[in-house]
Amino acid sequence: MKNAMIGMALALAVTTGLSATHGFAAETGRSQTIVRNGEQASLKGAEAFFTGNVRIDPLYPANNAMRSSGGVVTFEPGARSNWHIHPVGQVLIITSGVVRTQEWGRPVQEVRPGDVVICPVGVKHWHGAAPNCSMSHISICEEQEPGKVVEWMEKVTDEQYNGTGSGSGQSVKE
Ligand code: MN
Repeated sequence: MKNAMIGMALALAVTTGLSATHGFAAETGRSQTIVRNGEQASLKGAEAFFTGNVRIDPLYPANNAMRSSGGVVTFEPGARSNWHIHPVGQVLIITSGVVRTQEWGRPVQEVRPGDVVICPVGVKHWHGAAPNCSMSHISICEEQEPGKVVEWMEKVTDEQYNGTGSGSGQSVKE
């Protein structure tokens, strides 16, 4: 039950920005917590916040003393997040595939496994997979207030994804 609650809480934080702290305050203690691989269910990225198929595998939640939470997010080819901002920023560690990411008003960029993307506080951006290649990244966010790690915005259009729409500086190289 506890692990189910962990998974649900983190999933909510990753996908909706809702609280990840439910059921966790009492877990903050003096012992290490080992979150075993496979204990937390994979979740589907909500259509309201993502285009295409996205899977979220929770890694660890925030708690009252430690403010970061992490998850592995996997995008099928062409899938991407909506535009969004993080109130306390985000770190993306690319673990597989080819990633497209963009800040509002700047060109689409491609990044690859081993690259680390630091999304500054309040900067509007999106991230997703390349058109013909899936990708996975580890996403680490800190909470400004309990559960608040993302502010979701509009969908990324095909033109924006391909580097030709508003918000874009130039085409991504293929
Ligand atoms: Mn982000």
